[in-house]
Amino acid sequence: MATISAEPSLVAARRTSRRIRLGTVDIGDGAPISIQSMTTTRTEDVGATLVQAHALATQGADIVRVAVPHEADAKALPAIVAQAGVPIVADVHFSYRLALLALEAGVAGLRLNPGNIRDAAQIRTVVREAASRKVPIRVGANAGSLDRGLLARHGGATPEALVESALTEVAILEDEGFGDIKISVKHQNVAQMIAAYRLLAAATPYPLHLGVTEAGPPPTGLVKSAVGIGTLLAEGIGDTIRVSLTADPVEEVTTAKSILQALGIRRSTFDLVACPSCGRAELDVVDLTNQVLARLEALALPPVQIAVMGCEVNGPGEARDADVGIAAGPGRGLLFSRGRQIGWVPAERMVDALLEEAVKVAREKQANPAEAGLGEGA
Ligand code: SF4
Repeated sequence: MATISAEPSLVAARRTSRRIRLGTVDIGDGAPISIQSMTTTRTEDVGATLVQAHALATQGADIVRVAVPHEADAKALPAIVAQAGVPIVADVHFSYRLALLALEAGVAGLRLNPGNIRDAAQIRTVVREAASRKVPIRVGANAGSLDRGLLARHGGATPEALVESALTEVAILEDEGFGDIKISVKHQNVAQMIAAYRLLAAATPYPLHLGVTEAGPPPTGLVKSAVGIGTLLAEGIGDTIRVSLTADPVEEVTTAKSILQALGIRRSTFDLVACPSCGRAELDVVDLTNQVLARLEALALPPVQIAVMGCEVNGPGEARDADVGIAAGPGRGLLFSRGRQIGWVPAERMVDALLEEAVKVAREKQANPAEAGLGEGA
């Protein structure tokens, strides 16, 4: 999907890393930061898994991961891979045989957890098969499943323990001459997660997959993910991201897109600016904003910034600064477009007038890539 490149922002230069290719998606070495999510269906249920994979891809997931806990799940993979329309990653724990079946099924990527396939010979067998098929492997260390010896040595699931776990497995892969690696060191504690990734970023040249594990339901899980992933991205760390929410995984994708958009890394959709409302508001700002939001989501507009402001005090300034904006007055709203005052519209026409102008401006910007800065996001 074409995206809008980053505007000048506070995001640091991206950490230099190797690049891998996962199906059709490049990861690392300056490639656009990709969004991942994971299905919650039983993978063996091909129909249900495909419905969810399609929903995730439609919402903007670049990569979809599926759990492969049983042989029946592995046997469902060929049909899923063939019909998903998005690169599929098999998430395999404990069984190297399931990893081999997933590779045979044609998955675009494999995720292995160093904490639970402990036999190095088995890992080597998987690595050789992945190499022959040019399938990258994510070494995904997780605070909840670290090796007991490591936990004892480090006094718990510390950032150092996570990094050691990941890099110990990476060394086995490297020993097989395998370099199509990305790494994650997820922790449910945001501060520990950030510390682990900072250590990892300094210690390895591989691209990094960011995530706060077991972040929980929204809004807490959403905030934890935004703080953890957002902090690292702002430091230039991270090449692909997964928001983990106890919710419909489509919300993971919309949250991930919002994180990238908030940092100015990727702008692939509208940016709605709305005032929080206060005692000066001339109308119900929350209701008006929700009406605009619902219409915008249905329109699937190219990138455009839209402002909804509740009064004539601070409203006109913000409305003028956005691509399109409205500042409410008593029974009417003052419409702005690209910094120009268009005129007053009656209250009942405000949403329509704002949206009509937004569509017009979005199309003008889309038709002029130089102005819009069309290109791939950082
Ligand atoms: Fe209050 Fe007006 Fe500011 Fe909205 S724009 S928060 S209504 S002062």
